[in-house]
Amino acid sequence: MTDTWHERARALTPQTDAFIDGHPRTTDTTFRTSSALGGTREVAECSAADVDAAVTAAKAAFDDGRWSRLPPAERKQRMLAFADLIDANREDLAIMETLDVGKPIGESLRVDAPSAANTVRWYAEAIDKRYDEIAPTGPDSLALVTREPLGVIGAVVPWNYPMIISMWKVAPALATGNSVVLKPAEQSPLTAIALARLASEAGIPDGVFSTVPGTGPVTGRALGLHPLVDKIAFTGSPETGARFLAYASESNLKQVALELGGKSPHVVLSDAGDMAGIAETIGWGIFYNAGQTCHAGSRVIVHPDRLEELLHHLQAFVSGFAVGDPLDETTQMGPLVDGEQRERVEGYVQIARSDGASIAIQADGHASSNSASSNSANLYPPTVLVDVPTDSRAMREEIFGPVLIVQTADDDASAIAAANDTDYGLAAAVWSRDIARAHRAARGIRAGTVWINTFDAADIVTPFGGFGRSGFGRDRSLHALDSYTALKTTWAALDS
Ligand code: NAD
Repeated sequence: MTDTWHERARALTPQTDAFIDGHPRTTDTTFRTSSALGGTREVAECSAADVDAAVTAAKAAFDDGRWSRLPPAERKQRMLAFADLIDANREDLAIMETLDVGKPIGESLRVDAPSAANTVRWYAEAIDKRYDEIAPTGPDSLALVTREPLGVIGAVVPWNYPMIISMWKVAPALATGNSVVLKPAEQSPLTAIALARLASEAGIPDGVFSTVPGTGPVTGRALGLHPLVDKIAFTGSPETGARFLAYASESNLKQVALELGGKSPHVVLSDAGDMAGIAETIGWGIFYNAGQTCHAGSRVIVHPDRLEELLHHLQAFVSGFAVGDPLDETTQMGPLVDGEQRERVEGYVQIARSDGASIAIQADGHASSNSASSNSANLYPPTVLVDVPTDSRAMREEIFGPVLIVQTADDDASAIAAANDTDYGLAAAVWSRDIARAHRAARGIRAGTVWINTFDAADIVTPFGGFGRSGFGRDRSLHALDSYTALKTTWAALDS
């Protein structure tokens, strides 16, 4: 089966042009993106003029109502057709995602691609079931409060879950009648280009959904500064998020929603249940997608009485975790996205060690890479650190790799304080057999999502976003629909 995926990956020729106003568009320059098969690929780099073409087309489409004024039931049908096309192209999309990101093909196939289709379908189904309001004025007037689409949405996304995060933004924005210009990360442009083409095939009109691949400083900046963009929906690092706030203030005061990084803790209280199961969940929570997950559970705060037991079970988990070739269906963790990311992760481990930390657990970094053609140089082994000082940069900053930091806290209050001792606030988990005690701890933790006796239980039905340095936007759930609309009052006098 591995050979088959390798053959199919080699045979696939993904579109690498931009997709603007319903058509592929070549650009004057290209950039290089690395492939999990080794080597690099040239992809269109959209200039400010290309971005302007996409935004102008999006604005024209919005203004003439070809999508924005379609009855919701009609938008629903076309979005359902789009979701069906994602399903029909699931395998090719999964290969592209694995080639770009290095994530295991089994995950791209069974998680990323179906989840993207499900997100489009869910927002499509929602949009013809929402009603607007009539305000409680007196009998002599009628005041309607309606939700109006914002106009042109610039969606700027990272490389760790390209399809999923793109659709978290594109689907609710389209469902509410907006036009969207999607800017994928340099590392992962392929599925974003393919998705815009599939949307067009599904009957979403020209101009309504364009993809502008390119670099951050050229393409992303042009979108952030464009005066006809009404909102930027951003997911990525806090540093780039700050730039988008600046672009907005330098241009047209467009709205900006920021979904940023995390340093999410597990709080394992003294009465936590079955430690083998907890260790397995913690292991998946940090090593899934090689730790390149914004809400990765990268810290564990455990009661000292349970530390040994936890490390014992984490060791067993890591020993059985299949690290290697992303085009092998049995692989559970592939390489990091590129060499730069590997260096970054290694650098943080070195910082931790020079600050006094030690490596409690580390898997064999080159295990089971069974193909010379895979980019195994970017593998980083699952690693567990202990004795990391609280002021170490490794403790305070987002590592974004398969590195877990374990620390101890003597009682619930100090465990909660340690959990909150971060500038981030994206997610957390509490482990306890006593649901009231777990609830009290969950209430004390400042994070957009707190799981109790689980981690990463996620679905489109719940909102997702953070506090503090994790940003302030919310993707997913019906609430996301509100974030792509503005309230409008229409007040009619009935007494004249
Ligand atoms: P990044 O901030 O470097 O890039 C994100 C996007 O911004 C990319 O499309 C990039 O091209 C663009 N960009 C970069 N520099 C730019 C500039 N100067 N001007 C305009 N655009 C620019 O982030 P990344 O490395 O791609 O992704 C990793 C980060 O994303 C991590 O911090 C991670 O936690 C975060 N993330 C957050 C969530 C969430 O939902 N909260 C989800 C996934 C990832």
